[in-house]
Amino acid sequence: MFIDSHCHLNFPELKAQLPQLLDAMAQARVSQAVCISTMVEEFPQVKALADAHPQLFATVGVHPDTEEMQEPTLEGLVAEAHHPKVVAIGETGLDYYRLNGRSIADMEWQRERFRIHIRAARQTGKPLVIHTRSSAEDTLRLMREEGASEPGGVLHCFTETMDVAKAALDLDFHISFSGIVTFKNAADLREVAKVVPLDRILIETDSPYLAPVPYRGKTNQPAYVPYVAALIAELRGMPVEAFAEHCTANTRRLFRLPAAA
Ligand SMILES: [Zn+2]
Ligand SMILES: [Zn+2]
Repeated sequence: MFIDSHCHLNFPELKAQLPQLLDAMAQARVSQAVCISTMVEEFPQVKALADAHPQLFATVGVHPDTEEMQEPTLEGLVAEAHHPKVVAIGETGLDYYRLNGRSIADMEWQRERFRIHIRAARQTGKPLVIHTRSSAEDTLRLMREEGASEPGGVLHCFTETMDVAKAALDLDFHISFSGIVTFKNAADLREVAKVVPLDRILIETDSPYLAPVPYRGKTNQPAYVPYVAALIAELRGMPVEAFAEHCTANTRRLFRLPAAA
């Protein structure tokens, strides 16, 4: 049994084929999936997915790359987080990969937005789903400054170094691996996936992006998360089923998901 801890089923390319995707999930024994918000404007769609399907859950938050859209407020995040199927705050975090000519100093708005999400997580007791790209040092610093360990959470789609993984684990965070771990050029990441403690590891698709091998380059979907599990299980010399049970238990515990129907 598998859980996809991070996907974007409301994105148009997936939403258009939702019944088929849910069937494929069931066939692949992916029992649950967490649908992640990236902007205030799309939250009603993400919430509607979770409301309509017992195996889907939602998060509320605004992605660091989201610009020129509605800015989240602490009050707004807290209010939406009380919905029973909203299991986490995010995805939030920092992304300095596309600065578009700006300096890191110019990205204060992103750091302020991230702080608001951590405060919302602390107020509601819901865990954080954190995205970090080209910004690990500041991400960890803000997590420490704002007390992110208290609600806890996950660094999703992890692509950072062993040292960053260790720092996140020291902050009581979980680490989630996506299909990137199956890519040929991800040898360093595979070393990290080998050693993250079994009680802190999650798997995800981040679909529609980042389809794992053998679907690399195609549209990703939650039914492909077993390929991520299979690769990491092999690295660790474990049967896939046994490894997946750890990931499933960790995801359920972190997001307080009910047992699958
Ligand atoms: Zn992300
Ligand atoms: Zn995402």
